[in-house]
Amino acid sequence: MDFDKCILCLKTLDSSTPPEHVIPYSLGGRLQSLLLCDKCNHEVGAKLYASIKFDSWVRKAVWELRSVLPNKIFEAVEKRQSYTTNSPTGVTLKAKKTNSGIRIKPRSIGTETVLPTQNATKYLEKKLINDFGISSETAKSLSSKVSATPNGEKVQIFKDLHIVKWDAQQFKPDFTSNGISKINAMVLIAFEYLALLLGKSIYDESFNPVRESILNDSELVKVEFFISSKPQPFHLIYPEFESDKTVISIHLFEYSIAKVTFNKLKISNSPDFCYLEDLIKHISLGAWSVVDAKANKWHEFDN
Ligand SMILES: [Zn+2]
Repeated sequence: MDFDKCILCLKTLDSSTPPEHVIPYSLGGRLQSLLLCDKCNHEVGAKLYASIKFDSWVRKAVWELRSVLPNKIFEAVEKRQSYTTNSPTGVTLKAKKTNSGIRIKPRSIGTETVLPTQNATKYLEKKLINDFGISSETAKSLSSKVSATPNGEKVQIFKDLHIVKWDAQQFKPDFTSNGISKINAMVLIAFEYLALLLGKSIYDESFNPVRESILNDSELVKVEFFISSKPQPFHLIYPEFESDKTVISIHLFEYSIAKVTFNKLKISNSPDFCYLEDLIKHISLGAWSVVDAKANKWHEFDN
């Protein structure tokens, strides 16, 4: 399909524009086309899609499927995510995955501070200066004791300050820190999918309210979120065209489901083409109608 204008801002596309992934590439999405201009790709698409990996259901699906999914999907989704870990004193600590591994956040309760070995000296030095008003020289000499402190043991450093230096080995994903995808992220996926179904009719002015709603972050289009009972290693998108509305259903990992309803948007002469992304076999499958999809009549195609 050849698109010569950005489907969002209608600016002419130039040949340097990279193709847009309908389902984010980081989630294993393969379906792609020249759809957005550079500006919309960066300022709208990238921002909205970033919210999807922090969706608690998407993350949970990837976590549960981690033994079967390609590792690069797991790594991409888990980057910068939150974890918890229990310390020897029973205190639960929060941690975050960074490029250099999982970083634990120190935690103080009462006079006791549990702090990870990494950066312990530096953290303590800062705490002594900021919270206890100690001169930087004394803080430096007090905190230098930390390196000789055994792991997991409570040691008094100063009046009203005990520390437990500790290295965690086991972490649990902290799903409570995750939210849901931005509503407009789902609208954008649905709109891009519609563009692929309809071709250049997507430039029709009847779609202007949709463009407006994505660009200006309003919620003209209704989005409902659901979850299914169990994640699966595939993504699915399918349309339903009704007389007074168009509904695009997006199933990420067949678990985090968004139903995007474009009210008062009547579309005729388009097949209700269903799209399925097999994340294990790395293939894209299509069915010419929802009826065909339900009858398992899928065919493989190249994006
Ligand atoms: Zn644009």
